[in-house]
Amino acid sequence: MEKFKFLGLSEKTLPAIAKKGFTEPSPIQELTIPFLLDKDQDLIAQAQTGTGKTAAFALPILEKIERSSQPQVLILVPTRELAIQVAKEIHSLQGNRGLQIKPIYGGTAITKQFDQLKYGIDIIVGTPGRVLDLLSRKKMNLNHISHAVLDEADEMLNMGFIDDVEEILKQTNTHKRTLLFSATMPPEIIRIAKKYMHKYAVLSVKQQQITTDLTDQFYYRLKEQEKLEVLCRLMDIEKEFYGLVFCRTRGDVDKLTTSLIERGYAADGMHGEITQKLREKVLSKFRQKKINILVATDVAARGMDIPELTHVVNYAMTQHPEAYVHRIGRTGRAGKQGTAISFVTNSDLKALHMVERYTKDSIRQQNIPKVRDIIRYKKARIRDRIHDISESRLDDSFMKMADELLEKNDANKIVAAILQQHYHKDLDKSLYKEIQPVSQETRSKSFRKNKRPHHTGKRVWQNKHPFAKKAVKIYA
Ligand code: AMP
Repeated sequence: MEKFKFLGLSEKTLPAIAKKGFTEPSPIQELTIPFLLDKDQDLIAQAQTGTGKTAAFALPILEKIERSSQPQVLILVPTRELAIQVAKEIHSLQGNRGLQIKPIYGGTAITKQFDQLKYGIDIIVGTPGRVLDLLSRKKMNLNHISHAVLDEADEMLNMGFIDDVEEILKQTNTHKRTLLFSATMPPEIIRIAKKYMHKYAVLSVKQQQITTDLTDQFYYRLKEQEKLEVLCRLMDIEKEFYGLVFCRTRGDVDKLTTSLIERGYAADGMHGEITQKLREKVLSKFRQKKINILVATDVAARGMDIPELTHVVNYAMTQHPEAYVHRIGRTGRAGKQGTAISFVTNSDLKALHMVERYTKDSIRQQNIPKVRDIIRYKKARIRDRIHDISESRLDDSFMKMADELLEKNDANKIVAAILQQHYHKDLDKSLYKEIQPVSQETRSKSFRKNKRPHHTGKRVWQNKHPFAKKAVKIYA
């Protein structure tokens, strides 16, 4: 907590940070918080989701505003999910300030938002379309804002919102402070900054922090038609799987979700075409862990904040390194280990190589789990589970049944019968299909060009901080 105090945050804010369980500022917070508190300039910050960027801009803004009848801060974000998530995060950081912080997004009744605006929202976290709609209906007034924040500016650009963003900025007062957060800095973003921002500073965390060391990255070489089988094997061999699986198209999401459900997995899918109501329902099921697999397209998963994801699977490898970073940034967050797995077909090798160059990280190849190993793991897990249950308090009626069975039968046979009855489907080898090994040649050629050593993925931790980037890789 001392470190947050040292950055200049007040006693009004520190208890809220402590309540959140933050012990140290993240690298982007270390840069932006003192800058925004002490200086008066505009700011461009290069940071992606998962780096603590919301608190990086929200904490200093909260120090500077008080409850008012007019909107004081406008935060523009690309998606509804992000609007909800950012508003929630800021609300949890505000302490006892009593500020009104509301997400404003499309797909919901606009009249409800008229009422909220009438009552007075201090911090509006909105998607560009809905904010513009409210402005043109003269239900929102941004003439008195002290801060405008463009969050995930590159995503707003990718999603075609940039004209709306420009139009909104034109309708705000000129004396405000403007902050722009973006994972990447394409020229169009710089053009916007030059046009709408006053003298600005650029802050970014070092390039090597582009992927988190808390995320173990590896890939499988396979054929397109083997992907479903490999995904199932992977989920079956992992002790815990609570993951996001990325597909390329809406059709792919539907197809994979159906296949997984047919094979008995707790999965659901999300893509841009489903209604807002259904999206929220699916997300809520996933958050409550009623399902452990969420299949999604990039667009549908944008801005989604699920803090405890154990896995991100690139079922369809992305051709864009920035999208790769975005995808895998969803696991290995806030101090928790995560795993990012890419499915690489022959035609994905170039993309894999580009990702490695962009992230300055080598992604190791892993063998596809063999059926006998999966069965071995499953058996071990069954043994552990039964052992745990036997150690807990058992129902009297079952104890009585056990006595009765053991009185007349051989104990070994009884246990085997129960196991067979219960687990024969789960341990059936014929559940799995044949997989042909893929020739390694193409990959090694491309890797030789890369001239970097292939590491084992083992790591030594020097710093336990959730955002620590000092992990040392041991090379084989
Ligand atoms: P963000 O990049 O804003 O989406 O934040 C990612 C996650 O990290 C959120 O769940 C935050 O609550 C959490 N977080 C932000 N700052 C810190 C910090 N200093 N220490 C630990 N967790 C943090």
